[in-house]
Amino acid sequence: MLVPTLLLAAATSSPSAAEVCLDKPAALASPAAVAPQLVDDAVRQLVAEHGPTHKARIEQGVKQVASLWRPSDGDLGAFCLEHFVADAPAREQLFARFEAALEQTDGHFLEIGRELRRASEVDVGPMLPIDELFAGFDASAHLLDDLFASKIAFVALLNFPLSTLDQRLAIGAKWSRAQWAQARLTSRFSRRVPAEVLRRATEVQAKADLYIANYNLWMHHVLDERGRRVFPSGKRLISHWNLRDELKAQYAAGADGTNRQRVIVRLMERIVTQTIPLVVINNPRVDYDPFSNHVTPAPPDTIEQDAPAAAAVAVDATPEPSTRYAQLLAQFHAARAQDPFSPTMPNAIQRSFELGRELPEARVARLFGDVLGSPLVGRVAAEIQRRLGRPLEPQDLWYDGFKARSSISEATLDQRTRKRYPTSEAYRQDMPRLLADLGFSKAKARFLAEHILVDPSRGAGHAMQAARRGDFPRLRTRVEKGGMNYKGYNIAVHEMGHNVEQVFSLYGVDHTLLAGVPNNAFTEALAFVFQARDLELLGEKPKDAAATKREAVLADFWATWEIAGVALVDVAVWHWLYDHPHATPHELRDAVVAIATDVWARHYQPVLGDRPSPLLGIYSHMIEYPLYLTDYPLGHLIAFQIEEQLERAAKQGKRFGDEVERMAVIGNIAPDLWMTQAAGGPVSAEPLLRATERALAALPPR
Ligand SMILES: [Zn+2]
Repeated sequence: MLVPTLLLAAATSSPSAAEVCLDKPAALASPAAVAPQLVDDAVRQLVAEHGPTHKARIEQGVKQVASLWRPSDGDLGAFCLEHFVADAPAREQLFARFEAALEQTDGHFLEIGRELRRASEVDVGPMLPIDELFAGFDASAHLLDDLFASKIAFVALLNFPLSTLDQRLAIGAKWSRAQWAQARLTSRFSRRVPAEVLRRATEVQAKADLYIANYNLWMHHVLDERGRRVFPSGKRLISHWNLRDELKAQYAAGADGTNRQRVIVRLMERIVTQTIPLVVINNPRVDYDPFSNHVTPAPPDTIEQDAPAAAAVAVDATPEPSTRYAQLLAQFHAARAQDPFSPTMPNAIQRSFELGRELPEARVARLFGDVLGSPLVGRVAAEIQRRLGRPLEPQDLWYDGFKARSSISEATLDQRTRKRYPTSEAYRQDMPRLLADLGFSKAKARFLAEHILVDPSRGAGHAMQAARRGDFPRLRTRVEKGGMNYKGYNIAVHEMGHNVEQVFSLYGVDHTLLAGVPNNAFTEALAFVFQARDLELLGEKPKDAAATKREAVLADFWATWEIAGVALVDVAVWHWLYDHPHATPHELRDAVVAIATDVWARHYQPVLGDRPSPLLGIYSHMIEYPLYLTDYPLGHLIAFQIEEQLERAAKQGKRFGDEVERMAVIGNIAPDLWMTQAAGGPVSAEPLLRATERALAALPPR
């Protein structure tokens, strides 16, 4: 895990939402356009003042300002005359001012947030009620508004070019580092969404969160096809996460497990199609057969003690009235309300691809197609079938059996880590040794250890970046009473990987506006490389490292295949929404079911039992964080590519630490360009496919 996720915020910035009256989706305010005459006048005056050689830049700058200028901002022409900078050295100075100032605002606001959340994130003793309020308080909430109101944002827009993703991809490889940094400067001012529009969006988001958080199924009351109770009393599962994880866990339970998996699949399909009776949701007072869709009152002695208050809903099969899709529709309207305020990206789908991940949608679709259409799918499926000893079924979308048996028991490992790390301070002191063993030079290991602060975490652990030089990334590790257990240690090594990338990309990058990585997948990939070597660092030699690696690759391939289809459904639904902005929740439900069933028919049905299914529509992200799912399969592909590069470098005798540093200081440029500089080619599915091919070849002969 990585906190805070500034990049992620950009990736998901499109759909948060507002409570919008469904039949008046466009009721929110639109920006008033500046009269073309005013723009022409400003351009003419500036050209007269600075000469025709600057005309192109003047035209672009004035247009960029005008696109977000409001009448309350005052006299556009006077502003442009005062703040346009013509000569190159002065522009460079202006840019340097912006870079220095924004490093301070970003860095200090990050620190304020970190310190306000300190009591809720770091183990400093019992929490007080006030801690939660501080944790929810964002001192920088109005920063962007203020930068526009003070005209600072407009000075940037007047003097430095905005770019589209197409432009960045077409000519970005020829840009200087300074040009990339300028692109990062202006892109943060490419939208000026009014606080009210954002506030309503946040409200809709909160409602969707609440809806999902309360979508629980009491599994003791979900019956199998023969009407039997097959889940234990008290098991309450939230859709979709717990349902999916329960399904995965059932692989260990043989034929009974398969039966339970079939029940869960039917249940999920009922949720997607919204044929699930309203009375079943979060209610252990009724028994439900998802095959026949029948509901009956549960026998009193089967009802759990901690059942929520009885709902005033009839005990019959009346379905939920498309509430799931009403939530999604509200998210859509709230995202759409932001369109007029994003002149260069007036569409939420576009914003999610161009702003957040900086990969064109069509290219991402092709990358996913490379996985979905790969002949390796059939070969991995055949291996799964062999291991299961039965033909594949829809639930095997989440097959969970690729695992190498560990040779060392977790209890032994716990003992080792507890002894070595009784406190988080002990871990801090060991960091120079850990980093040197990983393959950093002694000097770099010391430098890194001096720039990473370690805190005892309340949660499982996380890495927190810093955003200005002089401040330090934090490694939060969880240490139980008797010392750090193996799980905590394993996470700490992962988070340390994030911290290393954070230190290099902040302190080693040439422009602080380029600090970071293109998106989260890149830093996750580096962190996983660290994490994978945790046993080595503990002085343990895993017995069958090759088998562990082989199984992990096959598991990743299958997971990528699974989530790629889910992501395609998510995006296709948003296209449908933009094509049908006045849809009702019922119409949206039918569209989601049709889209999910269609993607299933094309890619999954031939592999998983040849029966139509809307299963791919089950992910709660679709409702809660729309357009986010695409990041998961992309993350898998990027991770394999980075890992392959690190392996290649190792074979060439390059030191691991030097290679990680070389990659990390590339910073936040477009993903394809980053990957080309880091690994010799654009983002690609090939490394994953190659690794899968090798893993299949390495399976023991039968
Ligand atoms: Zn992570």
